[in-house]
Amino acid sequence: MKISELMKILNNHVPFHQAESWDNVGLLIGNDNLDITGILTTLDCTDDVVNQAIELNTNTIIAHHPLIFKGVKRIVEDGYGSIIRKLIQNNINLIALHTNLDVHPEGVNRMLAHQLGLENISMINTNSSYYYKVQTFIPKNYVEIFKDSLNELGLAKEGNYEYCFFESEGKGQFKPVGDASPYIGKLDSIEYVDEIKLEFMIKSNELEIAKRAILDNHPYETPVFDFIKMNKESEYGLGIIGQLNKTMTLDEFSEYAKKQLNIPSVRYTGQHDSPIKKVAIIGGSGIGFEYKASQLGADVFVTGDIKHHDALDAKIQNVNLLDINHYSEYVMKEGLKELLAKWLFKYENQFPIYASEINTDPFKYK
Ligand code: ZN
Ligand code: ZN
Repeated sequence: MKISELMKILNNHVPFHQAESWDNVGLLIGNDNLDITGILTTLDCTDDVVNQAIELNTNTIIAHHPLIFKGVKRIVEDGYGSIIRKLIQNNINLIALHTNLDVHPEGVNRMLAHQLGLENISMINTNSSYYYKVQTFIPKNYVEIFKDSLNELGLAKEGNYEYCFFESEGKGQFKPVGDASPYIGKLDSIEYVDEIKLEFMIKSNELEIAKRAILDNHPYETPVFDFIKMNKESEYGLGIIGQLNKTMTLDEFSEYAKKQLNIPSVRYTGQHDSPIKKVAIIGGSGIGFEYKASQLGADVFVTGDIKHHDALDAKIQNVNLLDINHYSEYVMKEGLKELLAKWLFKYENQFPIYASEINTDPFKYK
């Protein structure tokens, strides 16, 4: 399997356009045409992780955190530059699945919720999403060719179904005038044509490609088409809220989370004996959603990177916080490995998928 094919599969499952606008996801380093020899999943792409990929003869690393994030000014044997150089020198592809994996219904937050044994889960913040209904009018004898050209561009597809069109028959009319060079009909006389009204759906990020496809492939000089914007509830969203199978005190829950996530330390705000049953979680840095979670009935909001003043604010407002460190997102290594195995199962040219066991937490704990 080539990188280009893997990227298409990834884009189907964890669409890159679902990432935050400040994020940097997709193929960051590499070559679309390379054949994949193996995949290594990691939270961060460090020098040790690149060495591991080389040892495993695995030419594709999928990291959660993008290696190239802030403006890279130079790529020399120093800092991030040396990692980038090593990747390129060894023909290793680096793909980032970051906030697009966070908001996936089976993504990082779901993986963390699973590790904490949460049940009856739902999302804290559902992404709003929209799509377009497209309608255009094609002469009847041209409609099959037109549909083929849209299909070749990947349009009018829904999951595992291609050619998702609706057709209705009608009569179009027009009178070519002036400098027109009509596909059908003569200048200055009204022409009636058997036409098909063709309707199909496109995703919000397919608007430009669909417009181009109609303009390039429609037989008429000035095709008529409409894009009608439709809203729908997205299946993607940030954060998970769910229930523990028994009520614990906040102190017990902190101990439990530390053990379940196998992390060296946690810290919390709130009364040690306050009862915890409903838990909200956002992996990485989720501060900003603690009050929403509390409104949804969460007894504690679990995240990493909590700053002193955010903790103080929460404490004053009786919102319990549990800091599980940003590194607890490491659960995505095994989680993504399982998702990839599921997504790639039906394809030929199987290659090994590894979850890196290298700990990329920059902190040491005492
Ligand atoms: Zn994340
Ligand atoms: Zn993160």
